Amino acid sequence: MPLNIMTLTRVDMPVSQAEGLKILERDEFRCRYCGLDGKASFENALVMSVDFIVPRARKGKKDPANLVACCRPCNMIKGTRVYKSIEDAKKYVLARREEMRQAWESKRSHPAGGAVSA
Ligand SMILES: [Zn+2]
Repeated sequence: MPLNIMTLTRVDMPVSQAEGLKILERDEFRCRYCGLDGKASFENALVMSVDFIVPRARKGKKDPANLVACCRPCNMIKGTRVYKSIEDAKKYVLARREEMRQAWESKRSHPAGGAVSA
């Protein structure tokens, strides 16, 4: 599958292509945080990555139990914080995404010069 090779080689990952692919296959190419389907389109495939639940910067191990399929935006939002569990990390990422969505939607629904109901 060219999709896997592309996504895995273009990302600076500390896991090998084979290791990363195993994780992505295990998680069915879906982001474990937001649920983005990496198989749905080329654009989605491009942003798929593998995340260290406990970041390497915090001595997270390169172990399948510490690795999950993850899209790049969620990976960025998650950052290098340490969470109690993946559920905890997921809650944080989804809450941040929701905040970002609301900020984005409020800007979009009130274009400059448009009527703003207060
Ligand atoms: Zn995601």
